[in-house]
Amino acid sequence: MLKKLLKEIMVLISGKQAEPIADLLDGKKYTNEFLIAKKLDLTINQTRNILYKISDHGLVSFIRKKDKRKGWYTYFWKIEISKCLEFLRTLLVKKMDQLSHHIKSRETKEFYTCEKCNIEFTEETALLHDFMCNECGEIVTRKDNTPVIKEYNRELEKLKRELALVDEELKLEKEKIEKVKMKEFKKSEKIREEEKAKKKIASAKKRAENKEAKKKLEKKETEEKSSKTKTSKKKK
Ligand SMILES: [Zn+2]
Repeated sequence: MLKKLLKEIMVLISGKQAEPIADLLDGKKYTNEFLIAKKLDLTINQTRNILYKISDHGLVSFIRKKDKRKGWYTYFWKIEISKCLEFLRTLLVKKMDQLSHHIKSRETKEFYTCEKCNIEFTEETALLHDFMCNECGEIVTRKDNTPVIKEYNRELEKLKRELALVDEELKLEKEKIEKVKMKEFKKSEKIREEEKAKKKIASAKKRAENKEAKKKLEKKETEEKSSKTKTSKKKK
């Protein structure tokens, strides 16, 4: 399902030729643009133009590497799955809003039509022209909005179903990102713990060394003292 949605997004932005990009790009690893161009059967410039267009919406990202010998850059691309889904979601919500608006307008307003010219008029325009077609002069007839409303509602239901799919994929994607974050957190936590343990051992060692040094010093001092008393005794 995710692939199908991603394909839809690519086509929306860059046309039918961009559709395979959804299959070619990975969400984690970067893919060499030459490989993409080859698979799309396009030149490198055509491929880049498509990808730039998609990246304008933040839906793909790239890194580039300089070829030291030839001096030019090669681009590597990956797809931003969450951003793609958010993009589609925004689009769907907008379409649904528009449809709801149309439905409401059909439910509350009158529309007139000239059957000869197949033109539709709002009540205001019809009234303005005394209910005559401003193209041919025929009397306009009031339109039955029921079929249009039915059609709009059908479309609205379809969009709702697609939105539910997008939301489901978004949820999965967020869970995936959370998992990766958790893994990285645990890893850094482990490193921190190890460093803490190392420090502990080092400071224990240091303490032991200090203790040893202190002991030696005390021993030396007592030795010196005793030798002093011996010599003073001798003097007496
Ligand atoms: Zn007419």
